[in-house]
Amino acid sequence: MRTISIDEFLTLEAQAWGGPDWPGGIDPRNSTPASTSPALVLVSRGNWIAECPGRCGYASVMHRGFSWLRCPNHRQGFPVEWPDDWPQIEAALGKRPEANQNMAPEETLADLLKENVAHGLD
Ligand SMILES: [Zn+2]
Repeated sequence: MRTISIDEFLTLEAQAWGGPDWPGGIDPRNSTPASTSPALVLVSRGNWIAECPGRCGYASVMHRGFSWLRCPNHRQGFPVEWPDDWPQIEAALGKRPEANQNMAPEETLADLLKENVAHGLD
């Protein structure tokens, strides 16, 4: 599993917003989202990704410490719903080659462990 730093996350986000300044002064560390719909996280090739719950197609690589996803299309922030068992999820996915470190939002840790067993990784 990869871990991006806060700085890398902010750089990616600034690129998505089109500049270093967040429109409307929205700062995920201290702003209140306009919506309470949670952004679900998934894992793609070892990266945690959060998708906009507004289904506009926006997704961002996430730093685990961040609890907000700011969508440049919706111009608003959404709370990110991290699974409580993310450390175990990372451990399970960490046994796989990077290309196979994937998890859909609806998958559970139990699903991942079952897949690992099926592929002889446990
Ligand atoms: Zn959106």
